[in-house]
Amino acid sequence: MIIPEAQLRQRVSALGREIAASASPQTGLTLVAILAGSIVFLADLVRQLPLPMRIGLMWVSSYRGGATDAGELRAETARLPDLRNRDVLIVDDILDTGGTLRRVQQEVRERQPRSVQTVVLLRKLGKANPPVKVDYVGFDIDDVFVVGYGLDHDGLYRNLPHIALLSEEAKSA
Ligand code: 5GP
Ligand code: MG
Repeated sequence: MIIPEAQLRQRVSALGREIAASASPQTGLTLVAILAGSIVFLADLVRQLPLPMRIGLMWVSSYRGGATDAGELRAETARLPDLRNRDVLIVDDILDTGGTLRRVQQEVRERQPRSVQTVVLLRKLGKANPPVKVDYVGFDIDDVFVVGYGLDHDGLYRNLPHIALLSEEAKSA
C-alpha cells in the first residue's frame, strides 16, 4: 500500500479547504471531472466544497492501437454543461505524461470560461513534457503504476479504498 485511506481522507479535505478558500461563495464552481479514474476522488472532494456547484463529466480515451501515441486522444464533450463565464475546476486522478490534461484544458478553454483551474489527486513529478500547469496536487509520487481509489488496471481495482502499487504478477495476468 502506498497511500492509506486515512491519509487520502486528510489530504482531500485539505484540498477542499484550499479550493473553497479561493472560490467565489456566490457563484461557486463548475467542475469538469475526467472519467472514469476521477470518480472516487470527485465524490470525496465535492463533499468538502460547500459552494454552489455544477458537475460535468468528460470521457477521454486513447484510440485503440494508438496507445503509445500521446496525441491520439478522443474527448467526449457532448454532455458538458455550459462553461462560458464560469469558474471551472478540472478534476483528474493522475498527471502522468500530461496528454490527457493538455487536451482537457484546451477543450475547456475553447468554451470561454471566466477562469480555469486544475486539481489532480496524484502527480508523477517531472514526467509531463512539456509541463502541464496544475493548481492543486494531492500527492507527488514516483513513476510507478498505481491502482485503487478510482484508478484501474484493465478495469479492476477502482474500488480499493487506498492507493496501491500494482504487483508485477497482476500486471501480466
Ligand atoms: P497522461 O499520461 O495523459 O497524463 O495520463 C493519462 C491517464 O493515464 C490518467 O488519467 C490515468 O487514467 C492513466 N494513468 C497514468 N498513470 C497511471 C497509473 O499509475 N495508474 C493508473 N491506474 N492509471 C494511470
Ligand atoms: Mg484518466
